Amino acid sequence: MARSIFEDKYYHKANRNQLVALLRNRGITDESVLNAMNQVPRHFFLDNAFEKHAYQDKAFPIGEGQTISQPYTVAYQTQLLQVKKNDKVLEVGTGSIYQATILAELGAWVFTIERQKKLYEFNQQQYCFKNKYLNIKFFYGDGFIGLPTYAPFDKIIITAAAPFIPPKLIEQLKVGGIMVLPVDQEGGEEQTMMRLTKQADGTLLEEQFESFSFVPMLSGKNG
Ligand code: SAH
Repeated sequence: MARSIFEDKYYHKANRNQLVALLRNRGITDESVLNAMNQVPRHFFLDNAFEKHAYQDKAFPIGEGQTISQPYTVAYQTQLLQVKKNDKVLEVGTGSIYQATILAELGAWVFTIERQKKLYEFNQQQYCFKNKYLNIKFFYGDGFIGLPTYAPFDKIIITAAAPFIPPKLIEQLKVGGIMVLPVDQEGGEEQTMMRLTKQADGTLLEEQFESFSFVPMLSGKNG
């Protein structure tokens, strides 16, 4: 894994414009999300070998058997999360930091957890290019446990396939807060995108959306 192309050239910007047009065509309507996707150079988050393909609507390998999510998936989850400036957001599954950076671009305070030590360490090293985004904090840990020290959060986003709704994360969500996560469908390869809103009495308002395919959310740290 080598990332050294931290230059944002005219053709990157042109390709990004096309990607945003495609996302709009696929039904993403939130202008703040589309604008964030237009601002953040996705090729910064990929191995150099994929630089030319960074603005295709595809997932790519990022090492340790993990993937950077497809742009449509990132836009879709971000739109459901209804991020507002200064929201405290917990992300499970840092991966390439692309999703975390989109949240940071929207003005959120991002707390992101990764369970793969190599990815976590690589991210720490590579992060220097983004001095622009000082509002992301990195953690090496297990997303099933979350970050009780930093709770409660306005928003929680899980970017790996959850086998069930993690109860500890519900505890760490503010009343009125929103959690967006892909939950495994029974016996299937796919997950249903869910949005949970915590009500004043502690119960959850549950909404279901499209199906997606994520790498699994696994418990415990690796490394
Ligand atoms: N948001 C990422 C998507 C990465 S794929 C991006 O924008 O690139 C999902 C990531 O979740 C993987 O890196 C995987 O290692 C991590 N992951 C899986 N289970 C986890 C858990 N329990 N806690 C924290 N991270 C987890």
